Amino acid sequence: MDTKQIIETAEEKLIHTYNRYQIVLDKGEGVRLYDTDGKEYLDFGAGIAVFALGYNNKEYNDAVKAQVDKLIHTSNYFYNEPAVMAASALTKASGMDRVFFTNSGTESVEGAIKLAKKYAYLKTGRTDSEIIAMEHSFHGRSMGALAVTGNKHYQEAFGPMIPGIKFAKYNNLESVKELVNDKTCAIIFETVQGEGGIYPASKEFIEGVRKLCDEKGILLILDEIQCGMGRTGTMFAFQQYGVKPDILTVAKALGCGVPIGAFLATENVAKALVPGDHGTTYGGNPLACAAAAKVFELFDKNKVLDNVKSVSKYLEDRLDELVNQYEFVSERRGLGLMQGLELTISPKDIIARALDNGLILFSAGTNVIRLVPPLVITEKDVDEMILKLKKSFEE
Ligand SMILES: *Cc1c(COP(=O)(O)O)cnc(C)c1O
Repeated sequence: MDTKQIIETAEEKLIHTYNRYQIVLDKGEGVRLYDTDGKEYLDFGAGIAVFALGYNNKEYNDAVKAQVDKLIHTSNYFYNEPAVMAASALTKASGMDRVFFTNSGTESVEGAIKLAKKYAYLKTGRTDSEIIAMEHSFHGRSMGALAVTGNKHYQEAFGPMIPGIKFAKYNNLESVKELVNDKTCAIIFETVQGEGGIYPASKEFIEGVRKLCDEKGILLILDEIQCGMGRTGTMFAFQQYGVKPDILTVAKALGCGVPIGAFLATENVAKALVPGDHGTTYGGNPLACAAAAKVFELFDKNKVLDNVKSVSKYLEDRLDELVNQYEFVSERRGLGLMQGLELTISPKDIIARALDNGLILFSAGTNVIRLVPPLVITEKDVDEMILKLKKSFEE
């Protein structure tokens, strides 16, 4: 099929849930993507914070291919070695005790909600437990995850939402305290809000919520589906705050392109789930887990975290220059290689022009350009991105 046919057929056959750019991506190499016309793009989106290791990483590809030839799927009624390797690496990297593998971020959030509810049920016998979530949060599109997503626009047509969800203001501890009552079983938020516009949690907020949870016997669920897996310079963003969640959700970069997510918990919380409580057909299958296990191995071997720390400092400085230089760039926010530039104009046109100039960017919230590149970018890539972005600003 040629490019035009692919686009036309997609518009005819796929349910129209996305307004896609008129580009068909064909292959990738490092931090660059190529469309079917051979045009090159510098990728500062990484498939929405997924492709941490860059495209066409040989060791990663070889590991996935080897597992394809060996065994792709079993079922969760049997053990498989890749799942054990991935679980060991993930629990070690996060400091959590146990993991349940899923196929996506939204499923990880579903599992986290069920675990919190079951834990509360065992403790109190309550079947009417409540969860406090944050305004402008994003946790996914399935009914449970959507219910804790603080965005009326996403929820409206799909009501009723699951009951017992209340929304507090992110980074506002008082607003959380006001919503706590004896039905509250969990507080959920993103350590760095992604879709909502790249807002890192403040130290006071995250420490305050942790303390509140400890005092009241409430579980803290941190969603690190976007900000986890090294993106902020530590394996998980919460590790920079000196707090630990009771339940953690992970996905996006966990498999670096092979669909896999997970929710993790401390031993005490995890044991609330027993056979029959939760399950998945695909989750934790050998193919996805071989990919995730290799991702952890390559993070270590290639010192990915060191690169994030050094290059993100450089990126922050270059972005701060843009804030000083352009009147319509009002603020930079972010942690590590999860950065946002807030604009006083719509980011839509800028992002479209950037694509023309061979640069892939996503937006976040209504007025933020989001930069979530592969974690292997160099300062040279940052310079090229800045040139292309400036060109897009000036056009
Ligand atoms: C992307 C995302 C999700 C949903 O993950 P999917 O894999 O798209 O289901 C949930 N939470 C956060 C913070 C995300 O960024």
